[in-house]
Amino acid sequence: MTERTHYRICPLCEACCGLRVHTEGARVVAVRGAEDDVFSRGYLCPKGVALKDLHEDPDRLRTPLVRREGVLRPASWEDAFAEVERRLPPLLAEHGRDAVGLTVGNPSAHKMGLLLYFSRLAKALGTKNIFSASTLDQMPKQLSAGLMFGHWLSIPVPDIERTRWLLVIGANPVVSNGSLWTVPDFRGKAKALRARGGKMIVVDPRRTETAAVADEHHTLRPGADVYLLAAMVHTLFDEGLVRTGRLTPHLSGIDDVGAAVRPFAPERVAARCGVPAPTLRRLARELAAHERAAVYGRIGTCTQRFGSVNSWLVDVLNALTGHLDEAGGAMFPHAAAFAANTQGAPGRGRGITTGRHASRVSGAPEVFGELPMTVLAEEIETPGPGQVRALITVASNPVLSAPGGARLSKALETLDFMVSLDIYLNETTRHADVILPGLSPLEDSHYDVAFPQLSFRNHARYSGPVFAPPDGHPAEWRTLLRLAAIARGQGAQADVDALDDQLLEAELRKLAGDAAPPLMQALAGHRGPERLLDLALRTGPFGDLFGRKPGGLTLERVQAAPGGVDLGELAARLPELLRTPSGKIELAPPSLLADLQHALAELEVPAPPLVVIGRRDVRSNNSWMHNLPLLAKGPFRGTLQVHPDDAARCGVADGGAAELASAHGRVPVQVELSDALPPGVVSLPHGWGHDAPGARLALAAERPGANLNELLDVRARDPLSGNAVLGGEAVTLRPR
Ligand code: SF4
Repeated sequence: MTERTHYRICPLCEACCGLRVHTEGARVVAVRGAEDDVFSRGYLCPKGVALKDLHEDPDRLRTPLVRREGVLRPASWEDAFAEVERRLPPLLAEHGRDAVGLTVGNPSAHKMGLLLYFSRLAKALGTKNIFSASTLDQMPKQLSAGLMFGHWLSIPVPDIERTRWLLVIGANPVVSNGSLWTVPDFRGKAKALRARGGKMIVVDPRRTETAAVADEHHTLRPGADVYLLAAMVHTLFDEGLVRTGRLTPHLSGIDDVGAAVRPFAPERVAARCGVPAPTLRRLARELAAHERAAVYGRIGTCTQRFGSVNSWLVDVLNALTGHLDEAGGAMFPHAAAFAANTQGAPGRGRGITTGRHASRVSGAPEVFGELPMTVLAEEIETPGPGQVRALITVASNPVLSAPGGARLSKALETLDFMVSLDIYLNETTRHADVILPGLSPLEDSHYDVAFPQLSFRNHARYSGPVFAPPDGHPAEWRTLLRLAAIARGQGAQADVDALDDQLLEAELRKLAGDAAPPLMQALAGHRGPERLLDLALRTGPFGDLFGRKPGGLTLERVQAAPGGVDLGELAARLPELLRTPSGKIELAPPSLLADLQHALAELEVPAPPLVVIGRRDVRSNNSWMHNLPLLAKGPFRGTLQVHPDDAARCGVADGGAAELASAHGRVPVQVELSDALPPGVVSLPHGWGHDAPGARLALAAERPGANLNELLDVRARDPLSGNAVLGGEAVTLRPR
């Protein structure tokens, strides 16, 4: 048997580590970190090793399934597409484009074909009912970045290798290796930060794995981030610590920010934060005093009522202390391809617009072309024009990943038609009429489309497929285009390659006019996602500009570089990066200023005796890694962590069975005592609850865990971004 070693970018989390996959024939024999990867330098976590398990998982779908007489049965690809063609176009013709909903999940961000072709399907459908995982965890940051800098993914990230003071709020990068910040081996980088005399401070309700390696941990009351952040900004103004340095001529709205935070004196909000006022003031002073410092806030700051305000205040802190766009501060990556902030005229743009339409039932505004995932169930349930009667899900499992899963599950049963593009028959796809399986990540090529825009260092890396796809199994981009052809009325038999050519040529004509045909010719060596990638690399900031910049990037050049191409440390990008209409950093967007004032009304609201928050485990990512033996083995990780004082008060014991209840639902849980939490706060990880009948996740079902989302209020959202509120729900706990 021939032994081979393949380079593969790990598609399982945002860290995007480079791996070496060792194979013997059609078998994976080992997965290791790629030492020569220019970005991750040999790092990997247990999830990366489990790529072997994912590839070999007997539950991973390899054949389409079509519902016949109420049962999902294996079908040929032709039969599956024929069923879509039989049922989808009549529905569109009778009820209109908005009658079809479209959901997309987190794994699509890690599949080049899915990410680049999803928009082609969305456009072909022409529906306003588009929902994604972004409104479950990150839309607030996208919104605040869009309002401040002019584009949704112009998100500054800590320059971790040069910073000397790092404040981490509501994030656990030792476990996640960054989120909206691609930073493999965060633990190693944090250790290096401290070894060079730097300091890391963590603010979080739980003493997280990141807090455990930090210099300081401050226990924040769930949902109080807005008060902590506003109090720090208040201190900067109050104590004359605002120093905007080089950015001064590019900043708009400093005085408005100062006025908006005036009511948030540390002494006024400290009790709500659970952090003493002198500490709040000291953190602001230290941030201002350090030459190289950065504030990073993530999922805990986003999944709250004031998620957008929190996300904005994090960047306000960086900007007001002269740490935005400075070495060792919060900097903007420079992606080699696909970044909107490298396209068009530098320094000024159209900015962003929200609310171009609203959800039909709750009136939730569109943000980034999406509606909140938490309104999907009511849009299916509520009759009237625009009712969602059919659904296409792409790598998404909202029944487990969004609040109100049980209600959504019932709503999905009432749909006229449902299609899922997914590798599993899971809690959501079990409701589908047709399931079209994606490829194993090892059968697919990859380039990280989104994450170089969020990376701690600039890079361009590509990995080809480790194994050839099974005969007749189309790549996901082809499946999406075939669905698009059906939605466009071209039929399931449409020539996908011809459609791909037409769509690209039409786009090139818009961009380049008469130069489109020669450009198509120059790109003729590739098809599908690779052709889009070659175009994006060659016309990107490091590209060869089709020969006008010799030595610049092309796909061939990136493919030829073992371990990728290093494009250097982060460099200053302001004002070039800005795409705001004013050409300035909008420090005081009116919608954020106004919403901050709403926080005052909630300042005095008494805390419930017990609230629940989520957490993340290194062996888990969202809802879809609980079926892999390597990650599932060992102690059960879906436990409810409870402080010993709360356990004694509620009469529950370590390892015991209990019931956790809220005003919205109740779930059985397994208790784990932990003093990492303060009294009054319990923690249950999300993405569990694998006990739904009809799902095919045999290993996950052995220890299904409890679905945290069953306890959450489906109506609770950050009103600006539509992001769900996932933490801080009042709960009660009792033995079972
Ligand atoms: S940290 Fe993320 S990208 Fe790296 S090996 Fe683990 S799962 Fe893969």
